[in-house]
Amino acid sequence: MTSNTSTAQQRLIDADHAHLLHPFSSLYSQKNKELAFFESGEGIWLTSASGEKYIDAAGGLWCTNVGYGRQELVDAASSQMSKLCYLHSFSNFTHEPQIELTEKLLSLLPSGFDRIFYGLSGSDANDSNVKLIWRYNNVLGRPEKKKIIARESGYHGSTVTAGSLTGITAAHRAFDIPRPGFLHTVAADWHRRPDHIATEEEFVRYLADELEKLILAEGPDTIAAFFAEPISGSGGIIPPPAGYFEAIDAVLKRYDILMVADEVITGFGRTGTWFASPRYNIKPDLMTLSKGITSGYLPLSASVLSERVSKVLYSEAEADGAFGHGFTASGHPVCTAVAMANIDILEREKLPENAAKVGAYLQNQLREQLGDRPFVSDIRGEGLLMTIEFDKDKETRTPFVQASKAGHFAIQACHDEKLVIRGARGRALAAMAPPLTLTESEADQIVERLLRAFTRIEDAMHKG
Ligand code: PMP
Repeated sequence: MTSNTSTAQQRLIDADHAHLLHPFSSLYSQKNKELAFFESGEGIWLTSASGEKYIDAAGGLWCTNVGYGRQELVDAASSQMSKLCYLHSFSNFTHEPQIELTEKLLSLLPSGFDRIFYGLSGSDANDSNVKLIWRYNNVLGRPEKKKIIARESGYHGSTVTAGSLTGITAAHRAFDIPRPGFLHTVAADWHRRPDHIATEEEFVRYLADELEKLILAEGPDTIAAFFAEPISGSGGIIPPPAGYFEAIDAVLKRYDILMVADEVITGFGRTGTWFASPRYNIKPDLMTLSKGITSGYLPLSASVLSERVSKVLYSEAEADGAFGHGFTASGHPVCTAVAMANIDILEREKLPENAAKVGAYLQNQLREQLGDRPFVSDIRGEGLLMTIEFDKDKETRTPFVQASKAGHFAIQACHDEKLVIRGARGRALAAMAPPLTLTESEADQIVERLLRAFTRIEDAMHKG
């Protein structure tokens, strides 16, 4: 208990320690950890329960695109809740907000998509996409074509299926996943490329070859789809090398394998455009959306189907019409109404454009002010999705033996400077995805806080 902690707050802290199972936490040490206890938010700012103001440079979990405290979103939720607080979407039931949102999304997405299924989390949207893909191949009379390939370091969620797509071993070990039929190919991680690779072109060829080898080893007739984030997010903010998705696309086409772009983080302006797929020439057959769709104000996700996929799913062969899938809250009227209001703000305030402009500014500032520091071995990202990577030896890109621990020092030192950042398992990062409303002067404040944290980060790393 600190001097600022009231008795009432302490009771809550004790109850949290005693009864809450926190996601992605160490069950063993969580009960002794100091809680990061926040009470309110405004723009890029979070206020702690003891009244201290933090910059949330992580944007929650890469999701608070329009920033905290938007009354417009509160009003959209409140007015929809008063009018029609709930309606299911099973069979023929429908309501205005989900129809309006569907039309709006299709107008913003790259061309070629024509149907949307709503869920509540990025994980369930990926699960739905896997089921839609399995069904697609059942309708086409290819019951063997069911295996899914994703990538090492990819993050697609934590349900049994989405967790199996995820390529991070720390998310697998405790749970007997990935389930059979979920495979992983090499990450498009230029910073961690094998030593024998000299150019991006060579790396892309290597990655495409690795994918093709895996497909051939498993049998092309057994592989249904390839899942990838345009920029891997939770695995370490990993933008693809030039030409990567074009090379992957050629391999997938050769074996009639569907491409799924998981834009849960990169969607809704995060990287400086509405979606990241067009920038990298990704031509997805399905897409996964969540997070920025409501800026985190309410849970909502979308599985987006291209005409190619929906044509098969809605074909004559499926005249029995059975689609035994959906959730109580699919297309929830309050969540879809808030998503519409959120998209309205993103459009009106030109926030994707702002993410491109201020994102470039912040990255430049990071490079200028921190690029030469001893352990800073990479600064990368796109728009307002970026990271600093720390290595023990920046010249050889040799990671710390205990990289997660080194990363944790960075997060803690920033937290002490009232700056919230994120890391990634097995890496030493200072990853950021602030609200897309970020101004240049707010970006300067992020850099100032980072600079203040740096001496302690370096001290800890020298020792590590
Ligand atoms: N896909 C990606 C790319 C993500 O970043 C995440 C969450 N970090 C998910 C899926 C899973 O989303 P959720 O946590 O809402 O299930």
